[in-house]
Amino acid sequence: MGIPLLDLKAQYLELKDELDAATHDVMSNAAFIGGPKVKAIEEAIAAYCGTEYAVACANGTDALFLIMAGLGITRGDEVITTPFTFFATVEAIRHVGAVPVFVDIEPGTYNMDVAQIEAVITDKTRAIMPVHIFGQCVDMDPLLEIAERHDLVVVEDACQAIGATYKGKRAGSLAKAAAFSFFPSKNLGCAGDGGIITTDDAELAARCRKLAQHGTSKKYYHDEFGTNSRLDSLQAAILLVKLPHLDSWNGQRAAGAAIYGELLADLAELELPVAREYGDSVYHLYIVKTETPEVAARIMAAMGEAGIGTALYYPLALHEQEAMEKLPNWVRPSLPVAESCNNSTFALPCFPGITREQIEEVVAVVKGALA
Ligand SMILES: *Cc1c(COP(=O)(O)O)cnc(C)c1O
Repeated sequence: MGIPLLDLKAQYLELKDELDAATHDVMSNAAFIGGPKVKAIEEAIAAYCGTEYAVACANGTDALFLIMAGLGITRGDEVITTPFTFFATVEAIRHVGAVPVFVDIEPGTYNMDVAQIEAVITDKTRAIMPVHIFGQCVDMDPLLEIAERHDLVVVEDACQAIGATYKGKRAGSLAKAAAFSFFPSKNLGCAGDGGIITTDDAELAARCRKLAQHGTSKKYYHDEFGTNSRLDSLQAAILLVKLPHLDSWNGQRAAGAAIYGELLADLAELELPVAREYGDSVYHLYIVKTETPEVAARIMAAMGEAGIGTALYYPLALHEQEAMEKLPNWVRPSLPVAESCNNSTFALPCFPGITREQIEEVVAVVKGALA
C-alpha cells in the first residue's frame, strides 16, 4: 500500500479538468510571460493575505532576496533570524551582502525564540527575519515591539505558512513585507517554481517589481542593476485554480494533525508539535522529535520498510552548516535547542486528504518501532 509524505497526484486528480483547461488556455493563447493570469494571481494573493500589494516572482528564495534588496539591506548589515529553517532564508540575507545572526528556537514550535532577540542586536542590525516554520506563525507582537524600539525592519519568511493566522491576521500581512514560495510541495504549490511578495508599502512593492525586471521602469531603460525573476503565466493559471481550495486543504492538514495528537499522546518517546493559542497553524509539516538521533533513525527505518514517507526536517541546524564557516569573522554560536533537533526531528505524513485509517497505520508502525 504505502502512504506518501505528500500526495500531489491526488491533488492533481481532484482538480484535473480545471487544471487541464487552465493550462490549455495559456498554451493556446501563447501568452507565457506576464499578462492577465499573473496580474490576477497577484490580486488574489494580496486579497487572501490582506495586503495592499503582491508582486509575483520566480521562487520563494527570490522573493526574500528581492525584499532584502528592495529595502536597501546591504554589505555590513546584520539580519537576525532562526537557525532552524530551509537554507534559502540565510541565502537571501547573504546575497545582498548582509550577515545572518541567529537566535535559538523554542522547543515544541521550533520557531525563533523571540525573547532572545534583544541580546543579539548590535549597531549593525537592520532587520529581523522570522520564519513561520512548519506552518505556524512566530509570536509576532513581542517581536514587532522589539523591532520598533530598535528601529528595525521585519520581513516574514512565510514560505511554509500560507493561510496561517496570528491573532486573526494572515501570515504575509504581519510585518513590513513577506515572502511566499509556490514550490510544488508547499501548501499552495504550482507545477514548477514560483514565489510572491506581499506588502502594504507601495514604494517597496514598486521597487521589488523593478528589481525583478532588470531594474527597468521603461522597456530597455535601466535605473539600476536588478535581476530576472518572473512567475510564468502557466504557473499563475495553475495557482488561480488551486487557491480557492487552499483553506479546505489547510483544514484537512490540521484535522490530520489533531488525529496524530490524539493517537500519539501516550507515547513518551515522541515530542509532539506544540500549537500556540494565538493563531492557526497550516501544518506544512507535522514534525515529531525523539530524545536521540538513534530513536529517530529506528522509527524512520520502520516507516521506510512499511512504505510510509518521512524525512528529517532538518538534519543539521544552519549555524552548523559548512557554508557558514566561509563567512568573514564567523563565530559559531551555541544554540542548544536547535542543536538538539539535529537528526531527531522528522515528518509524519499529514497532507490534504489523508484518512484516519492512514494515520492509524502510520501510528501503528511508529509504535511498533518503539516496542
Ligand atoms: C521553500 C522555502 C523557501 C524557498 O522557496 P523556493 O521557492 O524553494 O525558493 C524559503 N524559506 C522557507 C522557510 C522555505 O520552506
